[in-house]
Amino acid sequence: MKIVSACLAGVECRYDCKSQERAEIIEIVERGEAIPVCPEQLGGLPTPRTPAELIEKKIITRDGKDVTNKYNLGAEQALKIAKLSNATEALLKSKSPMCGCGKIYDGTFTGNLIEGDGVFTKLLKENGVIVKSID
Ligand code: SF4
Repeated sequence: MKIVSACLAGVECRYDCKSQERAEIIEIVERGEAIPVCPEQLGGLPTPRTPAELIEKKIITRDGKDVTNKYNLGAEQALKIAKLSNATEALLKSKSPMCGCGKIYDGTFTGNLIEGDGVFTKLLKENGVIVKSID
């Protein structure tokens, strides 16, 4: 079983109420081989919401609000779903401060990237789940 970012499966859960639909992700969900989760929503963040980025180990919205606790809560809840479904692999949306893998936005809200993992990706890796980034 796999976990996938819900926005990749066509769920309109992004900060701007849009999805990032990818046909290959929808196919594996339809085959019953993957479960979509949106850790930001699971942490209690609204949709739409103000975008946030990693700034000095905290997740801060563009208007300066610290949402680190909600990110941590959402990542923990999504990990619970991964464990309940015996997921060994996750296919997650690139660059996101929650789902990004390898590269994430640099905290300036300008589209620049730095090396790093999103909050959910980091937690999955710590728990032995293989994470792959999907653009
Ligand atoms: Fe997509 Fe992950 Fe962001 Fe939710 S938290 S909108 S699943 S990238």
